[in-house]
Amino acid sequence: MFKKILIANRGEIACRVMQTAHKLGIRCVAVYSEADANALHVSMADEAYCIGPAPSAESYLCGDKILEVAKQSGATAVHPGYGFLSENAGFVKACEDEGICFIGPPASAIEAMGSKSAAKTIMEKAGVPLVPGYHGDDQSPDLLKQSADQMGYPVLLKATAGGGGKGMRVVWAEKEFDEALSSAKREAVKGFGDERMLVEKYLTQPRHVEIQVFADHQGNAVYLFERDCSVQRRHQKVLEEAPAPGMTEQLRQQMGEAAVKAAQAINYVGAGTVEFLLDKGGSFYFMEMNTRLQVEHPVTELISGQDLVEWQLQVAAGNRLPLLQQDLRLKGHALEARIYAEDPDNDFLPVTGNLTYLRTPLESQHVRIDSGVREGDEVSVYYDPMIAKLIVWDQSRERALSRMSQALLEFRVAGMKTNTGFLKRLVDHPAFQRADLDTSFIDKHEAELFPSVDLQAQDNRNVAIAALFVLLKQRQSSAMAAQTSSDPYSPWFNLSGWRVNESNQQRVKLSVPNSEQPSIEVLAEQTSEGYLLRLVGEKMIVSGQLDQDRLIVKLNGHQTTVFVAESEGHITLFTEQGTREYIWYKPGLEEHAFEQDEGSLTAPMNGTIVAVLADPGTAVDTDQGLIVMEAMKMEYTIRAPTKGLVTEVFFKEGDLVDEGVQLVAFEADADADAKDGE
Ligand code: ADP
Repeated sequence: MFKKILIANRGEIACRVMQTAHKLGIRCVAVYSEADANALHVSMADEAYCIGPAPSAESYLCGDKILEVAKQSGATAVHPGYGFLSENAGFVKACEDEGICFIGPPASAIEAMGSKSAAKTIMEKAGVPLVPGYHGDDQSPDLLKQSADQMGYPVLLKATAGGGGKGMRVVWAEKEFDEALSSAKREAVKGFGDERMLVEKYLTQPRHVEIQVFADHQGNAVYLFERDCSVQRRHQKVLEEAPAPGMTEQLRQQMGEAAVKAAQAINYVGAGTVEFLLDKGGSFYFMEMNTRLQVEHPVTELISGQDLVEWQLQVAAGNRLPLLQQDLRLKGHALEARIYAEDPDNDFLPVTGNLTYLRTPLESQHVRIDSGVREGDEVSVYYDPMIAKLIVWDQSRERALSRMSQALLEFRVAGMKTNTGFLKRLVDHPAFQRADLDTSFIDKHEAELFPSVDLQAQDNRNVAIAALFVLLKQRQSSAMAAQTSSDPYSPWFNLSGWRVNESNQQRVKLSVPNSEQPSIEVLAEQTSEGYLLRLVGEKMIVSGQLDQDRLIVKLNGHQTTVFVAESEGHITLFTEQGTREYIWYKPGLEEHAFEQDEGSLTAPMNGTIVAVLADPGTAVDTDQGLIVMEAMKMEYTIRAPTKGLVTEVFFKEGDLVDEGVQLVAFEADADADAKDGE
């Protein structure tokens, strides 16, 4: 076995590989970019070397620099993780030339599967069933179209060099073909420098079922069952499970054997995945083979009880597969949810930011977290926005689903948008619960999976909880200030709401980010039982205790616990129904970040104007949205401070604006101030 290996990757997979290597007593060398100097994978390693600036093309993709580090550090093998250099045949050859072991398949196998068309030709010869289509060398547009016409629409155009869902277009009818072909080619050239296309029959409701295979240098090959990865957004996986629901022993064996045949056809060695589309009738078709460890490998580990990274290390070191087919057993059910920094409400666009708050469920025999970040880390534009993988296991799918639902609630992130709420709605969805799966699942259930953000503003219960948090937080700060003051009994530290000539009342002003709804005012009156809150159309009695991020709430007699993160006026509530966000207009801090002084409607930070909501001459009400800008991939609505008239708008959609610049000129109504002060 190796004594020291280099991990040519970052993030969760680098940490994952190191965990197993350390378990086996192997020392680990990390490489990192300048942006990752303080990353978790660096601190976990026994040695680490900086290999260049943040962009991967100048660091994690530089095979020569990585091999230099391997030689310098005395590492005798390189684990590539997934992505980056993991399917780069040139890098594998360079490793061979330097006498360093590449922990993965031989260059020839990577090359054979590198082109989706060439892979299909090989599989066809090996007798593995294919999706009907054209994958030839002749790329004349007429021929491509002819083959589409012949097989009948819809068809799918795919870049032969493609990956990550790029360079793919569904063509629903003949008349759309030409345009789709040009646009798929443009994307393919941009993404892979190769415009070649294949045409496949587009299956409208297939499942994505893939088989984990493993082979050794001695000629043994096995399949470690299947994974169902049907739940996808933009043709990319978001939730995976093993085994595939409804799989019969017979079909498992057929698909498993076909996958092993595929691996053997290219003299495969190491871990690989053969991806199939499975139709309703139980027919399956080869799509592609990934010649590396997959992101979703943990679900296979949990149902097979095997450590696939350990298998990779054993095989790379020249040992036999730890188990043969007849020794492998499938037990229970596992699910993996990929937690991304992304905005499900904005076409799942990745977001960046600082993980100001990160709490995860306790790991146990049922819950596993593969992550490469800690609280305080940055999710930057340079790398994949995956924050972590949350993996659960239990005896049955039903029990695993409850575990996942609960674990998602306990996975709490603030500082950026994530998909945890979306994942929870997905897992709890009745159609997902009854395993009514196919690759269009998210589109099909759009209405329930994407509830309107404006509903949040009407959700009085959570507004009341957010208000209670603010009241208790203010009370705590006041108590702290009093403790450190020379006059702890000064009435100015009293936050009971006492004011000269006023009733015992406090106002809490909140709003829902990105909502078109005006801000919400909650009037709080302290009573012997807690606070009497007056919200839109409702009164509530709330009381509670705040211990750091844990808020015990008693609301109209019902007690619950919620967790709350607050950073610079951004409140994130983690409730049983999911995450709720509010902006708290802190008194005295109003101009900071979210709101502007009257008359100075300025940009809170550098960003881009995404919409102008009120043109010059428009009469507007207090809090009406005037202009929307986007900064750090978050949208901010600049609102009318009072009732008045928009006199000028200085920017249009798409303009870049600097922090502090005036966006809109506004004239308040003469009587607006008086009304506001009521
Ligand atoms: P990439 O390598 O870019 O990820 P894949 O070939 O693996 O592309 O396909 C990604 C996803 O696109 C699949 O998981 C599946 O959901 C969908 N897909 C691919 N081919 C077809 C097809 N012929 N019919 C229907 N859906 C398909």
